[in-house]
Amino acid sequence: MARLRRYLTDTVLPFSSHYGALFRRHHIDPARLRTPEDLSQIPFTTKLDFAPNEDKSDPVRDFVLIPDRAILSKRLSTIGRALLHGRQAVADGFEREYRPLLMTSTTGRSAEPVPFLYTAHDIENLKLGGTRVMEVCGSTREMRMINMFPFAPHLAFWITHYAGTEFGVFVVSTGGGKVLGTEGNLRLSKKIKPDVLIGMPTFLYHVLTEAVRDGLELPSLKKIVLGGEKAPTGIRRKLRALAAQLGAPKVDVLRTYGFTEAKLAWAECPFDEDAGSAGYHVHPDLALLEIVDPATGAPRGEGEPGEIVFTPLNARGSVVLRYRTGDCIDGGLFHEPCPFCGRIVPRLVGEISRRSDVRELRIDKLKGTLVDFNHLEHVLDNVEHVGTWQVELRKRHDDPLECDELILHVEKTDEFDPTRLAALLSDRFVRELEIHPNRVEFHSVEELRNKQGVGAQLKEQRVVDHRPGAPSPASPASSPQGKAVSGNTL
Ligand SMILES: [Zn+2]
Repeated sequence: MARLRRYLTDTVLPFSSHYGALFRRHHIDPARLRTPEDLSQIPFTTKLDFAPNEDKSDPVRDFVLIPDRAILSKRLSTIGRALLHGRQAVADGFEREYRPLLMTSTTGRSAEPVPFLYTAHDIENLKLGGTRVMEVCGSTREMRMINMFPFAPHLAFWITHYAGTEFGVFVVSTGGGKVLGTEGNLRLSKKIKPDVLIGMPTFLYHVLTEAVRDGLELPSLKKIVLGGEKAPTGIRRKLRALAAQLGAPKVDVLRTYGFTEAKLAWAECPFDEDAGSAGYHVHPDLALLEIVDPATGAPRGEGEPGEIVFTPLNARGSVVLRYRTGDCIDGGLFHEPCPFCGRIVPRLVGEISRRSDVRELRIDKLKGTLVDFNHLEHVLDNVEHVGTWQVELRKRHDDPLECDELILHVEKTDEFDPTRLAALLSDRFVRELEIHPNRVEFHSVEELRNKQGVGAQLKEQRVVDHRPGAPSPASPASSPQGKAVSGNTL
């Protein structure tokens, strides 16, 4: 809490126009933030705070720390650093601390991507956070790594890049499917014989499936590190099975969790499959994490599930306080030492799912039903005979007044009878989600990849909503493709 008080007083409140005004409006005195309970005095920040104002001004800018020259020069004279090191050195120090140099942005379902700025100071934090991800995953400097995250202004790509240079390990960034294509990624894998593959689960699944098909061998492979989207148990199991087919029988499949607003990511400790994951190791010197009740915002206790709330403790550039991620974790935050590595940093334990993936379906004409599509991923990724899949929502006969239809598109991975598989999937849907798909359609893996936009888009589309007025798909780049797909789906 002392770190937070100092950070707010010296860095955030004087230079953030959003939080300066917010603290004044709510009469919050940072000196009085003594215990974790006191945090609730600070109102949450949510994605809605980034939405453009009616007066067309851009609120995202209000979250950037912009130093006030008068305050800085006053500090200068009190510290006397100017006398010791010369004015230029001090001016350079401020430049490093406050001048934005790098930007990543969100790819969420929100209409507009939200940009987050990094200064040289933030890039140091990114390197530090990235290095810790390497360490937690059990990497060594002798390893050879391939970064298959899409080349884009996104956290996943850049933290992997900086983690590699800072940790001092050989990393080739392919740029993902959009830049080199599946072909190029396979060619590099063959040449480099990586120890570690890093990327999005759906894309890595696709690349490894192709590698198996081409008869490639990757015997050095030891770790698959996943980020950028959720990776339920099922897809991790499938990735391990593919690695075994490529001649790498013992591979750790590890997840990372991060988001644009954090400018950081956290990694899962290698774990024993039977014992289950020990969770993501977080860094209490760089950020404060809270778990709150997603409905009321009330704090949750040790090891209680809820929504993840983030506050940085050392960020410059864009800064958000008590940021509600919209991500819910079904375990919670644990402070006891990690059973696997013994680290004493707090751990986020459990499956993380997006709160916003709950959608209303009109199954009959009378009423809507809320369906949690997070759950859907956990259900489908654990079914045998099923490779990749997509759930499509549409209106019956494309008539806006009709009921909603749910169509499940599936890649069948073996000779299993399609009618039996369709029945099995339907049963599972009813058991887990209390709805049944209107149809189950089987497709070749190529057809499904086109539907999902694997390699062509920044995020694979596993749930597409083709109902009129439905929220737009994952990223702006994906909208035209999403529409094109809808035209030839049925
Ligand atoms: Zn650990």
